[in-house]
Amino acid sequence: MSLSSRLQRFSEPETLRMAKMGRELRAKGFDVIDLSLGEPDFDTPAHIKDAAKKAVEENWSHYPPVAGYPDLREAICTKLKRDNNLDYKPENILVSTGAKQSIANLIMALVDTGDEVVIPTPYWVSYSEIVKMSEGVPVMIRTGAREGYKVSPEQVDAAITPKTKLFMFSSPCNPTGAVYSKAELEGLAEVFRKHPQVYIMSDEIYEYINYNGKHESIAQFDDIKDRVIIINGLSKGFAMTGYRLGYIAGDPAIVKACEKIQGQITSGANAVTQRAAITALTADLKPSLEMVKEFGERKKVIMSLLNNIPGVTCNEPDGAFYVFPDVSSYFGKSDGTTKVNNADELCFYILENAHVTTVTGKAFGEDKCIRIAFTNSLPKIEEGMARIKGVLGKLH
Ligand code: PMP
Repeated sequence: MSLSSRLQRFSEPETLRMAKMGRELRAKGFDVIDLSLGEPDFDTPAHIKDAAKKAVEENWSHYPPVAGYPDLREAICTKLKRDNNLDYKPENILVSTGAKQSIANLIMALVDTGDEVVIPTPYWVSYSEIVKMSEGVPVMIRTGAREGYKVSPEQVDAAITPKTKLFMFSSPCNPTGAVYSKAELEGLAEVFRKHPQVYIMSDEIYEYINYNGKHESIAQFDDIKDRVIIINGLSKGFAMTGYRLGYIAGDPAIVKACEKIQGQITSGANAVTQRAAITALTADLKPSLEMVKEFGERKKVIMSLLNNIPGVTCNEPDGAFYVFPDVSSYFGKSDGTTKVNNADELCFYILENAHVTTVTGKAFGEDKCIRIAFTNSLPKIEEGMARIKGVLGKLH
């Protein structure tokens, strides 16, 4: 078979691969605990489900406008004002089938062959792969646990060249849970003022899952706002991963460019989902905040369990629902039969022996770490962590 060379340029998402392997093991009858998936284990709040049912009954079954229904784009502007104090008009908004598609639209709209895209590591798996799919060149900036996995203005300045088209980051960050403060974002904004050719993709999909209080967006700095493209969506904050709804907020010319691409690829987001999204964005956020409170409780528990595992170190996340421990002290160790050489092998070792799914840090550009999601119930998290501790204890 002769498939396109495009397929050789990028890999399948490691997160989805691990979940698939977990499912296969479960199908064989093993009691697998899933701590790999990046999605809330909560149900979609009832008022949003009711809005979706109503939309079905009301026959929202025709092609929607490619950019999204005008009243949804309006609702997104209202949300951006309410939550972020940002002024946008519907012409600044493009609705899509999930933040992942919003990112893909944006990269296709901005990046030409050979353009450089600066990405601080650790980063969400798909950033680099979507850039490669579009023949762009990802340029990584390494950040470490000591700096809270946050990039400094000096590092960003040093990574930018005349070929740099875009800077991509998420705050709160998947996988580290790092959250940038207003002062830290102001430091980055200062660098972007010096480089007017660089666009900034600010992925804010974990906005509500923030344990520090206020979410800050880099779009708040007016003199760079027209180069910032906010990525957001309903998957994480409203437990709506399967509904598939994302959006961008940015310069109308970029919105139009993304709309042109989307018009040839999906024709826009599912109509019923769009109607439900209006309710999600305009109703009381209480169910989301309650979910976040529960994530906060789990975070405390998982941090104390991690701190009890010898040789594992981990920053406490300020946002999102992952811990990203450094497990490199186990590399090169063996249980007498199997030797574990790196993070990939450690994840497989944990899956095979403890029947717990996690994700290798290598997929996020940090091969000393693994990602553990606390998107499972407290008893499952406690049991999963006990199993992980047990199998790590066998490595000498
Ligand atoms: N950005 C980040 C940082 C993510 O973690 C995810 C989902 N794992 C997405 C974007 C994509 O979200 P969705 O397509 O479900 O809206």
